[in-house]
This record gives sequence, structure tokens and C-alpha cells, in this order.
Amino acid sequence: MGTQNPFAVIFGCSDSRLAAEIIFDLGLGDAFVVRSAGHVLDAAVLGSLEYSVSVLNVPLIVVLGHDNCGAVTATKDAVQTGIMPPGFIRDLVERITPSVLTSLHQDKTEVNDMVVEHARQTVDRLLESSQVISAAVGASSTAVIGVAYRLGEGRAQLVTESALL
Ligand SMILES: [Zn+2]
Repeated sequence: MGTQNPFAVIFGCSDSRLAAEIIFDLGLGDAFVVRSAGHVLDAAVLGSLEYSVSVLNVPLIVVLGHDNCGAVTATKDAVQTGIMPPGFIRDLVERITPSVLTSLHQDKTEVNDMVVEHARQTVDRLLESSQVISAAVGASSTAVIGVAYRLGEGRAQLVTESALL
């Protein structure tokens, strides 16, 4: 038990109903889990993900969003009302705003459409932000996928796969 050898990284929303090990029926040691509200990327998240890829050699990163996400809903509300939330919640909303704007530009006005767009954009942003991860994807030693999970049905839908352009 001196080392860990997880087969996947799950980078998901912090929502209390999205406990990765439970919804995917995983055991101890199976998954390296990183979570933030709305799976928003920041330096600590990127550092954790880079560690999983470069030190633990995990071959798969799953970006896990879900329907009726509170962080995406708060961002949709902020964009539509022009009223930003206070404190560091604003920081989350600012980082989700590009996904909401892209959705609205495509006439997709439902929160769950925005959730799918946000999972896709998070995968793109992850590859743009991290040289370590984009190099690992380029070398085919890891893959990054985006998944939208439906809490009520317990179903996961693949919404994007990493591809270096
Ligand atoms: Zn959420």
C-alpha cells in the first residue's frame, strides 16, 4: 500500500450528488479525483492533474459535468441579469462564462446544453493550459474525455474526446 496506481483521473464538479467513486462504482485506489464547483480550472487543479499524468502515469482524464449544475446555472443567471455574485463565487462564474456565451450564441438556452458545452470547453482549456497534459496526449500516453452525467437517470454521456489540433 506504499504507492497508488489509479487507472483514471476524474476531474468533476463538487456537487454532492456527483461523488465519482460511488456513481462509477469504484474502489479504493481506482481513481485519482480532483473536484471544483463547475469543474473550473485553476492553478491547484492544473497542478493536481499534471501530477496524476506525469508522476502517476494515469492514462485517462475524465472531465465530469452533470445536469442541473448549480455553478453553470449561476453563470447563466449572471450573464442574463448582468448581476455578478459576490466574493470568489464571481471567479467561478467568470471562468464558466465563455461556455455559457458559446451556448447562447448557438441558441442553446437550456442549462443542460450549457453543461455539455462547458465540459467540451474545459477539455479544450485543459489542453491549452497544460503543456504536460497536451504533451502526454500528443504521445498517446493519456487521453482526455468530457462526460455529461445525468443525475436522475444515472447515465453518463461522452461529449468530447481529446484531439490535438
Ligand atoms: Zn455542478
